[in-house]
Amino acid sequence: MKYDYDIIIAGGGLSGLWAAIELGDSYKVLLLDPSAYPRHKMCGEYLSAEIKDLLQSKGIVLDKLTDAYINHFQITLQNGKEIDSKLPLGGYGISRHCLDFELFKRASQSCSILKERVKEIYDDDPFQTVITTKNRYTCKQVIVATGKRSQLDRQLQRDFMKRKSEWLAVKMHYKYEMPLNKVELHNFDGGYAGLSKTETGAVNLCYLTSYRSFKKYKDVDLFQKEVLSGNPQLKAFFKTAQPLWEKPMTISQISFGIKKQGGSKLLFIGDSAGLIHPLCGNGMAMAIHSAHLAAINLEGFMQEKITRLQMIKNYRKHWRRFFQSRMRFGQWIQNILIHPHLTKVMYGLIARLPSIMPRIIKKTHGKPVKY
Ligand SMILES: Cc1cc2nc3c(=O)[nH]c(=O)nc-3n(C[C@H](O)[C@H](O)[C@H](O)COP(=O)(O)OP(=O)(O)OC[C@H]3O[C@@H](n4cnc5c(N)ncnc54)[C@H](O)[C@@H]3O)c2cc1C
Repeated sequence: MKYDYDIIIAGGGLSGLWAAIELGDSYKVLLLDPSAYPRHKMCGEYLSAEIKDLLQSKGIVLDKLTDAYINHFQITLQNGKEIDSKLPLGGYGISRHCLDFELFKRASQSCSILKERVKEIYDDDPFQTVITTKNRYTCKQVIVATGKRSQLDRQLQRDFMKRKSEWLAVKMHYKYEMPLNKVELHNFDGGYAGLSKTETGAVNLCYLTSYRSFKKYKDVDLFQKEVLSGNPQLKAFFKTAQPLWEKPMTISQISFGIKKQGGSKLLFIGDSAGLIHPLCGNGMAMAIHSAHLAAINLEGFMQEKITRLQMIKNYRKHWRRFFQSRMRFGQWIQNILIHPHLTKVMYGLIARLPSIMPRIIKKTHGKPVKY
């Protein structure tokens, strides 16, 4: 049977690009994404060092891309009280503008990338068909890497699309002085905000809030003045920080957790398989790691040693082994952080037993991934 491509990847964020990089050297790969590169993306831009070696195996050297190696974490309560901790493995402050573009350039060396939105995918065993806004393609296997929420998920009749999510996020780059090696997480009524430096020297402010908390204000500036600034640390930040963009980036309808894949014969990677709570700072590393797992598991199927169903079963088993417990732990931590009373109890505990903090952080992260 002749297909147009061996593998088609829907979505060119971190997971889709990484899958393209790993698979593009051995197979005929097509990656489809409607947006142009480089581009800014909603993200806290703290990248866990656990995927440093994996990236390096394909020539993406984080230490060359950014000076912001982060090994210090600070969390504050709504009243500004601080807890400081070392980050057991550490990470990098790097903008999505830079990171996605580096991966895009590397992926372009070995696979075709087209600026097209995927509208529909069909499993027509033994091949799969992808219909975009412009064309129709066939391949042996489709990988879905379309992120948190896409219209494509509706066509694929995915369960989570039936549920509304009350979370929205805001991001903006600022000129502001803070240590290169520090990431801060500040609590406010109804959400939390992260601050860290990127490779340009700009500080990224990215916060997540419930729509319930935001809807009284419906205006980002007012919300920041009235709600975020309730935390004295954020108040001090807004007093001197100078915005570097004309307006902030905003998104809504963010659904967290593991997304059911039912009997689907497609491979779901990155956020389209599941999104960990952003406070864990691990979504990007997980997205890239999940693409790596998909690439490993595809090998046997592409060489016709195992069936599609076996390949998908093996991938999902791997996925659960690496990510399920940290997703659940992330959910647990988020539940605590959005309740001021529970946050205070946790603060009291950590103040008495500071060694708990690195242990909590470890539970939301993985071990270094090797190629
Ligand atoms: C507020 C917030 C803060 C975060 N902060 C951090 C952090 O500090 N550190 C961290 O590690 N993680 C963080 N994350 C998580 C991280 O951003 C994601 O886990 C990561 O981007 C997932 O990569 P992905 O490839 O799955 O999806 P994405 O990077 O979102 O890429 C999806 C791609 O699919 C494309 N697409 C969508 N629909 C279609 C379609 N129909 N056809 C073709 N293409 C399509 C989009 O254009 C996009 O390029 C944060 C998330 C949020 C919401």
